[in-house]
Amino acid sequence: MKPYTLMQIQIIAVGLLLLSIVILNDSCSRSSKEAGGDFDVVILNGRVINPETSLDDIRNLGIKGGKIQLVTAKNISGKKEVNAEGLVVSPGFIDMHQHGQDQENYRYKVMDGVTTALELEMGTSDIDAWYSEREGKTIINHGVSIGHVPLRIELMDDPGGFAPVADAAYKEASDEEIELLKEGIETGLERGAIGVGFGLMYTPAASKWEILEMFRAAAKYNAPCYVHIRYAGLIEPNSCIAALEEVISASAISGAPLHVVHVTSMGFRFTPQMLQMIAKARSHGMDISVECYPYTATQTTIESAVYDGDWRGSWGIDYGDLQWIATGERLTAESFAKYRKMGGMVIAHSIPEEIVKFTIADPLVIIASDGTLTEGKGHPRGVGSFARLLGKYVREEKIISLMEGLRKITIMPAQRLETIAPAFKNKGRICVGADADITIFDPDQIIDQATYEEPAKYSKGIHYVLVNGVVVVDEGTLVENLFPGKGVRGEVRE
Ligand SMILES: [Zn+2]
Repeated sequence: MKPYTLMQIQIIAVGLLLLSIVILNDSCSRSSKEAGGDFDVVILNGRVINPETSLDDIRNLGIKGGKIQLVTAKNISGKKEVNAEGLVVSPGFIDMHQHGQDQENYRYKVMDGVTTALELEMGTSDIDAWYSEREGKTIINHGVSIGHVPLRIELMDDPGGFAPVADAAYKEASDEEIELLKEGIETGLERGAIGVGFGLMYTPAASKWEILEMFRAAAKYNAPCYVHIRYAGLIEPNSCIAALEEVISASAISGAPLHVVHVTSMGFRFTPQMLQMIAKARSHGMDISVECYPYTATQTTIESAVYDGDWRGSWGIDYGDLQWIATGERLTAESFAKYRKMGGMVIAHSIPEEIVKFTIADPLVIIASDGTLTEGKGHPRGVGSFARLLGKYVREEKIISLMEGLRKITIMPAQRLETIAPAFKNKGRICVGADADITIFDPDQIIDQATYEEPAKYSKGIHYVLVNGVVVVDEGTLVENLFPGKGVRGEVRE
């Protein structure tokens, strides 16, 4: 046979390119094999919404080996058939900000449609230990960052738990200690941490130079820095604006990508200004993302540095706006002083509703819960954030469309994370080759039921959830003793 001429090769190449574009359509970036039957699970007649491609149409899905193998309008069959008629079939929700990482919390997450829950803000000091504690024991997928706060707690031998209460909060680090913290961050990233977590408000003695050094360590790995910024509220010089400037400048100087957590609880009525600053910095080429939770109250530990100083003045609230989680009571100056000595979780009703709506409507903003529940007590955001977004803000208040709402909890977090952890290229999407993490819900019924008084109430309207192809919520009920969740991590360097 005669060898092909250059022209013939070019024609063949163009032909293959055009063919691949045709195939790409219903199958994201993977080629679609028309696999016959023999699926583990098929999801039939659902309204499939895939925000990555803007697909919103009736499709059947064929799932095998934990992956989506087929997306089709044709009839298919499998060992288990899920009838999704009248329901929305969405990529499983990804929560970038979930502190509660135990069996109790994972149950509430999956009943809120979450298939991957990540502790990125605070993180951990020991990546390998964190993943091995959970391996094979979780309903949903999980992941963690290497955390500046837990590293500082460990290094300075602080007796605090979630947040420091002694030297890790209030002692300036020496040059040697800054080096050790940097090493800790680099070791974490070598072990596959999904970026670097910061709680600058919890570590007021960490100098701006120390933080810049941590950003430099992150930048070596192109690792995103997830930051609870240094100040909340409106009063200069320690305002949310100054605090945002600090981390935007650390990102600009170091080159590390930046993710600003729970923007509304830092900005309060200055949140629009913060969002404008982030959008402008992005327009100059910076890599910055931002999240909020869909609630008007914050929650943290009352004994932490967050409640040092004039919080009433800078947040524009008073003692009566605080709610003690253990009892549900509103606080006074006296009970505040008493509980601050004792320690524990407190809610602050401090974010105006119109600010919550404004922030959800901003196309840059990802929704993440910042959730944690302990023996049924906590802020409802850890239990109902995702159903609340889709029920209250999409259906009832029509702040954004359903497609846009789903975009903020599927493809947006996946794309934010896929550089540091390539496993996310297969999450947040419905397409051939993607992980079969799927949430199926009734768009007319979905709503949160968790309240500040009674947080431990499952969301309504989630009919089915699949994690890595395993049906873990079946006809609205959690299936017991299934642990298909996987640890999702970045590249592990030996
Ligand atoms: Zn925070």
